[in-house]
Amino acid sequence: MADEDVLNVIVCDPSGVQRQILARSLTSAGYHVYGASTASEALALIRSGVGDILMTGLELPDSSGFELCWQIKCEPETAHVHTMVLSAHTDIHRLTNALDAGADDFLRKPLVEAEFHARMRAASRIVRLQQRLANEARRDALTGVANRRSFDASLGRAMKEASAQGKPLSVSILDLDKFKLVNDTYGHTAGDMVLVEIARRARDFLRDNETFGRLGGEEFAFLLPDQALEQAKARLDEFHQIIADTPVDIDTSAPLPVTASFGVATLYGDADMEDASALMDRADTALYAAKDAGRNRVCAA
Ligand code: GH3
Ligand code: MG
Ligand code: MG
Repeated sequence: MADEDVLNVIVCDPSGVQRQILARSLTSAGYHVYGASTASEALALIRSGVGDILMTGLELPDSSGFELCWQIKCEPETAHVHTMVLSAHTDIHRLTNALDAGADDFLRKPLVEAEFHARMRAASRIVRLQQRLANEARRDALTGVANRRSFDASLGRAMKEASAQGKPLSVSILDLDKFKLVNDTYGHTAGDMVLVEIARRARDFLRDNETFGRLGGEEFAFLLPDQALEQAKARLDEFHQIIADTPVDIDTSAPLPVTASFGVATLYGDADMEDASALMDRADTALYAAKDAGRNRVCAA
């Protein structure tokens, strides 16, 4: 298994000995284990994004296992964490209370090794399926880049960060020129190949802190954190050239020259907080200006 495929399990138990026993067993089965002695420690780990699975006892110094599961399932950012409650109490009320509080599974102590590992494998299957679905929900099916929803979420986060750090944030919308003509002349499949290739070039071009997404149709967008307007414009000029310089291979005819028009707008960290749609509207207005000016260019708002 590649390292990023290892699932993280948070073991929450006030007893260091109990944590160690579980950690040893989980580590030998290939999980990465984090220990927490209180509910607040476990929550802090989960909120920082490390936990795939939580395994908790019911009695915790600062809360209960029920309460911890409930809190995890109430927060949209943590609700995906698979929660398992461990208890020596076997009465039905405790079991149903735990499940109703948001526990995904209930394990009776003392643990039977074979059952424990079988339940962990079942938990892993659920976690991996959820990860796959979450990943697919963020991607555009044709091109594999961020879809509109995911791009909007990244934009929201980037705007908060920019205003907190007093840094600029640039966004750009790009639209392929006369793309309807590509479909009409060479067919929809050739059009799709162009979209896929533009997205591939953008992925190659992207720096770590930048985001590229497909807004819909033949319209894409860049998120360029910490770039003032001039800087962002220069960067987009570069990508504009990457599209224009190399015709796109399509199956049915000679490589196709493709161009795109770009609109770019910048939010300055110290400016009054503009909302995301107003910023995108400015980029869109600049894009229209680029189209009006004859296409195949980058225009700044
Ligand atoms: P302009 O330079 O003004 O942007 O002209 P245009 O032809 O690119 O603009 P228009 O909005 O008229 O056409 C966009 C075309 O994009 C129409 C639509 O068929 C095509 N399109 C949208 N989504 C897809 C897709 O997923 N695959 C393919 N092949 N074509 C698509
Ligand atoms: Mg368009
Ligand atoms: Mg177009």
